[in-house]
Amino acid sequence: MNKQTIVEQILDIVINEVICLQKTKNIRKSVRNCWEEIYTYEKMIKDRKNKIKELESTLYKTCNHHWERDWEDNYSRYKICNKCKLANMPYVYR
Ligand SMILES: [Zn+2]
Repeated sequence: MNKQTIVEQILDIVINEVICLQKTKNIRKSVRNCWEEIYTYEKMIKDRKNKIKELESTLYKTCNHHWERDWEDNYSRYKICNKCKLANMPYVYR
């Protein structure tokens, strides 16, 4: 094996290592970006759920309810308002 060949082999190893390291960094960055997106969407979902809770609470206090049995849920203990579609659970909408 001549000197030139050995240098080329070492260079190949070093270059491959650098390429591999760069790919690894890029994949890690993609994983991190996905997690950041998940956190953002989870926060958005949490905010929307809180907003729905607020709106339903306001709706419960605003509607002039007309309660009737929920014919779609045979096992429900609660009546449903046929105007606002909320269940008769005042403690939930305080
Ligand atoms: Zn109602």
